[in-house]
Amino acid sequence: MKYDIAIVGGGPAGMTAALYAARAGKSVLLFEGEALGGQILPTRKIENYPALPDVDGYTFADGLTKQITAQGVQVVYASVAKVEKTNDGFALLTIGESFVASAVILATGLKHRKLGLAGEDAFIGQGISFCATCDGMFFRRREVAVVGGGNTAVQDALVLSEYCSRVYLIHRRAELRAERNLAEQMKAKENIEFIGETVIEDLQGEGRLTSLTLRNVTTGAVEYLPVSALFEAIGQLPQNAAFADLVDLDEDGYFLTDNECRTSCPGIFAAGDACRKNVRQLTTAVSDGTIAALSAVEYLR
Ligand code: NAP
Repeated sequence: MKYDIAIVGGGPAGMTAALYAARAGKSVLLFEGEALGGQILPTRKIENYPALPDVDGYTFADGLTKQITAQGVQVVYASVAKVEKTNDGFALLTIGESFVASAVILATGLKHRKLGLAGEDAFIGQGISFCATCDGMFFRRREVAVVGGGNTAVQDALVLSEYCSRVYLIHRRAELRAERNLAEQMKAKENIEFIGETVIEDLQGEGRLTSLTLRNVTTGAVEYLPVSALFEAIGQLPQNAAFADLVDLDEDGYFLTDNECRTSCPGIFAAGDACRKNVRQLTTAVSDGTIAALSAVEYLR
């Protein structure tokens, strides 16, 4: 079967695109490699989505999943490894299967940035985590660390402060990048300790992570910090290289789009955090998904 619109990525941008495309009467195929909802899933309380002040990420994603399913969107749980141009549309290749569509929306989101330390990969799941909401409860009454200075890092520290005896927030600068409101919530927590102007230089542990080597970037002082876990919250990176043959990316690998979410390839649109932009929020992802879907519908017309 040839679909009207194939969407790569089932986060808020991709699911919103699917909703609008299906409601416009198009047949829609949505690819998701992990879980529908994407980055928003582990968010405990979203707080800044208009009119839904108390919604959590799981509830938001679940609501959107039900909405698109009710509109007849077909979901394929697989990663798209490549998109190829055909005579009258596009072929989307997953491992072992090929699907065809007349237009494509790329909403591939971002993946967690890692510190790049020796042994880091081996400790993932053995003390290193990227999701405080998912894994925090495994470290009840333990001492843990969070690295990063943005909203995610501070939110993670707040989540962990409810389970853990002590949470160290390690940031390479003296000042946090996070919103003031979050930073103030953090300051009010007695069991969160901010360790500024400090980088993590090394990780230790036999099988499981047991301590970190920290270096103060101003004084050069080195210390060892025993922790049961390290939650990395140092931003995210695009994973768009597989599409670079067809659409233009910027120097950091983000999709280059115009105001209508069109890429450099007619028939391919891009939406959400994977695009070059200054503001990456749930609201902007949802906005992009809307625009990309309506642009794709216009293209098909
Ligand atoms: P972010 O804002 O990009 O912050 C990443 C942090 O990690 C920065 O403080 C950065 O330090 C630090 N960092 C980057 N590379 C590092 C490295 N190699 N070693 C040590 N530290 C490193 O990322 P984010 O916090 O994940 O947020 C991403 C976007 O989502 C933001 O726009 C944010 O506002 C939004 N967000 C919103 C909410 C919400 O509830 N509304 C929640 C989470 C995220 P520097 O400060 O030195 O650059």
